[in-house]
Amino acid sequence: MSTPPQPTAKQQLQPPFPNKYNARLVAQQDSKPCTICFKPSTTVLLADNNADFFYTCAQHLRDDQFASPIPSDEYTALQKQVDELRSQVDKLRVEVEAAKPYLWGISSYWSTSKERTSTADNKSDESSDKYSNKEKEKKQSDSTTAKQDSTTYESLKAKLLKTEQELAEKQTELTQYKFKKYTLNQQVYRNRLMLNQKKIYNKQRTEKIQQPGFFPSAPHHNIA
Ligand SMILES: [Zn+2]
Repeated sequence: MSTPPQPTAKQQLQPPFPNKYNARLVAQQDSKPCTICFKPSTTVLLADNNADFFYTCAQHLRDDQFASPIPSDEYTALQKQVDELRSQVDKLRVEVEAAKPYLWGISSYWSTSKERTSTADNKSDESSDKYSNKEKEKKQSDSTTAKQDSTTYESLKAKLLKTEQELAEKQTELTQYKFKKYTLNQQVYRNRLMLNQKKIYNKQRTEKIQQPGFFPSAPHHNIA
């Protein structure tokens, strides 16, 4: 006994085209109305096996009630970059806040007032020279630290600004990213399949009508 070929049933279940569409751009003069809103559009969604295509405007392409983009590796990489930059910015903001110069501003204020006191002391008491020198050294080291703090703060601030700019650029790139592949919303896809079936049915019907013998032929002989 021979077994009948198995894949027939499976083949029948396969839709004539997959729910995987490639976005193609046509020239401005070739634009056609969007399938949904009839606005002139230059984007064609073409099924992966080329068995279906239709025009869609940019607005409907962004509408997730209509279609969803299939993220490419390029897009995922860009998304990852944005995430990394965002956490870098967050971290830098904290660092900049911690290095804010108001702390060394206070310390230099105190040193100046101390110096003023020690200068006054110098007039009345010569023996305070040593103490005064020590203070001066301390003040100098204070201002060096302050300078370093301020450099750290400025460089951190510059780094933050640069990272923020980079983040903004990448974010714009991400939001304006042109997807190349889309899946249709289930209902939209079903409509495409139905439309396709109707087209096939109409074509078959037209062919049948044109076949000789479809309509009963008019009698050839005269009644009279
Ligand atoms: Zn539209």
